[in-house]
Amino acid sequence: MSFVCRFAPSPNGPLHLGHAYSALLNHRAAEKAGGRFLVRIEDIDTERARSEFEAGILDDLDWLGCPPSEPPTRQSDNFSFYAAALAKLEAEGLIYPAFESRAEISRAVISRELAGPWPRDPDGTPIYPFRRQEIPDEERARRREAGEPHVLRLDMARAVGLVGSLQWEEAQGNPLGRPAAVTADPLAWGDVVLARKDTPASYHLAVVLDDAAQKISHVVRGRDLFHATSIHRLLQVLLGLPAPVYHHHRLILDIDGRKLSKSSGARSLATFRTTGALPDDIRRLINLPPKNARSARQVETPAS
Ligand code: GLU
Repeated sequence: MSFVCRFAPSPNGPLHLGHAYSALLNHRAAEKAGGRFLVRIEDIDTERARSEFEAGILDDLDWLGCPPSEPPTRQSDNFSFYAAALAKLEAEGLIYPAFESRAEISRAVISRELAGPWPRDPDGTPIYPFRRQEIPDEERARRREAGEPHVLRLDMARAVGLVGSLQWEEAQGNPLGRPAAVTADPLAWGDVVLARKDTPASYHLAVVLDDAAQKISHVVRGRDLFHATSIHRLLQVLLGLPAPVYHHHRLILDIDGRKLSKSSGARSLATFRTTGALPDDIRRLINLPPKNARSARQVETPAS
């Protein structure tokens, strides 16, 4: 099997040290395995994606010394492909239109919590508090036809009932480490959203379709996506897609111990660059060896 991995940034802000770590880890694994390192621009959220961020990302990757093996691909080129997958899930009765607004959902959670804590998903968001059975499918179809705003949700209980228990392979220690099986728990997520009016496929749906289409053998990404892999594994089985090996790497934290993020204003790689940092300074900051570590060590070794 040939080794293919990918770095999949969303072009809604500049890259920071967390992205640098992920990209360099992927790139190094591909180099070691004699495989390919792909870059996929995850611009499915067309409201937030901007071409100037995309250009900045590719520039940063070149500068860091981890350019992709091939020209990058974009999710926005694949919209029809996502629609076909939704149609397949729909034909099997696995997705349904849901009409509650975000405000209605949070009101329902608040009222349920009067009777005790309402379950949260692994990211800490309350599980969708309604049930498909509360509204007959015919009425849902009629409201959808009438143009009522809705999202498409996965009927998690039905999907899990169909496929049974699931596992994924997690490479231990590093992206090329020996894989060990992890038990997936998709029920912990409830009826997740797979499409919205302004987003033709959710991250979960798009990522499994793109990874399969690009024949990704190893998905190397941050630990914050570890639990989401349960949903991804389920969708792979439902859609008849192959299962890559996963490796969820450590996260780069800020001074308060929180995961770096664009929204909390993490310093961008571009800012590091303009203040004189070199790619090896970035590697040092995220505890990766300098680019030419091996040859440097050889030079230092005294002749015997
Ligand atoms: N686009 C996602 C992000 O920027 C990456 C998802 C993945 O690697 O599966 O967090």
